[in-house]
Amino acid sequence: MYDFLVVGAGLFGATFAQVAHENRKKVLVVDKRPHIAGNAYTEDDGGIIVHRYGPHIFHTDNKLVWDYVRRFASFNRFTNMPMARCDGEMYNMPFNMNTFNRMWGVVTPEEARAKIDQQRQAAGITNPKNLEEQAISMVGTDIYEKLVKGYTEKQWGRPCTDLPPHVILRLPVRFTYDNSYFTDRYQGIPEYGYSAMVARMLDGVEVRLNVEYLSSRAWLDKMARHVIYTGPIDAYFDYVFGHLAYRTLSFESHRIGVRNFQGCAVVNYTAGDVPWTRITEHKWFAYSGGDDEGSPPFTIITKEYSAECQPGMEPYYPVRDIESCQMLRKYEDAAEAVKSRVHFGGRLGMYRYIDMDDAIMAALDLANELV
Ligand SMILES: Cc1cc2nc3c(=O)[nH]c(=O)nc-3n(C[C@H](O)[C@H](O)[C@H](O)COP(=O)(O)OP(=O)(O)OC[C@H]3O[C@@H](n4cnc5c(N)ncnc54)[C@H](O)[C@@H]3O)c2cc1C
Repeated sequence: MYDFLVVGAGLFGATFAQVAHENRKKVLVVDKRPHIAGNAYTEDDGGIIVHRYGPHIFHTDNKLVWDYVRRFASFNRFTNMPMARCDGEMYNMPFNMNTFNRMWGVVTPEEARAKIDQQRQAAGITNPKNLEEQAISMVGTDIYEKLVKGYTEKQWGRPCTDLPPHVILRLPVRFTYDNSYFTDRYQGIPEYGYSAMVARMLDGVEVRLNVEYLSSRAWLDKMARHVIYTGPIDAYFDYVFGHLAYRTLSFESHRIGVRNFQGCAVVNYTAGDVPWTRITEHKWFAYSGGDDEGSPPFTIITKEYSAECQPGMEPYYPVRDIESCQMLRKYEDAAEAVKSRVHFGGRLGMYRYIDMDDAIMAALDLANELV
């Protein structure tokens, strides 16, 4: 008999399992994938650490989480400074003074604000009602057309005029020449990758891979007093209220015989007619700021594509539209009814986009409560 059966060896499940094990609880972790670390999974491919499920940059303002993760890995000083590419032109992301200077030749923040104001007024926007109007009022029409529209429509599979304004509010716009994407106090990437970090977290914990919990739950449930479930909440309840909407991703990796393919880790492709949303060149997570001569003589790149998630596909980004939010409330009520034994967590269990630090913090909180 186990105290806890943890479904999912991602950061939420691994954190919970680590704390429970440290407190002498008997824990079993199962994951349907053949590896640990969930979407943060990395693997070493000829000396380059590849982020198999998209680029993962650790960033947090939470000192407790930062101290916690550094018990299991040392972090490099990688700072995310992605670029946007459109029709052969390169722009800095997030939108900042370098972007405004490249787009309009403006030099001071005042000139940039004036230009954005002028374009917002020309578009007649006072109270933005959709993502398009929100974006134009934040960065003006030129940047919207060139750098926001095509990318956002590929990412969400809907016209910007059909998307709610709040989706774009996450995108930083800065009137400084700082190209760092995140402003968090603590940032970096585990030197040997996330898989190595999670392996250390799970040191001593029993882990069974290639185990699909839902199809074996009749016997798995009998083995533990509590279940920590980090899979999709709608799947747990056999989709009784319907399928929650998600976007899925597909990844296409190539090993190329050049030392330096794009000069930075992440380039977003913002034109609507380029089918991928971004290209990640993995070696720059380790060699950021360094001389490319010191890196391996080849490189590995991954093209990322976004699509509507159909049943049977891997869910990535929750599409929290009105219908899904209403459906979610029904699933949350169903979860409430089983909460003495089953605890839902992580991005799929909560149906919420969360960064890694939030996943870890939420798991620490749950462990604090239950362990
Ligand atoms: C493309 C992309 C890029 C991202 N970039 C960043 C970033 O730069 N920085 C950042 O902080 N965050 C980033 N994130 C978010 C980050 O991936 C999440 O915060 C993190 O993965 C959450 O961990 P989790 O344990 O909740 O979920 P997951 O990592 O998804 O782990 C859940 C695990 O449960 C398993 N599972 C599900 N159902 C079952 C079942 N029925 N039976 C057995 N096992 C099951 C899955 O196989 C999976 O391994 C990114 C996310 C994506 C999609």
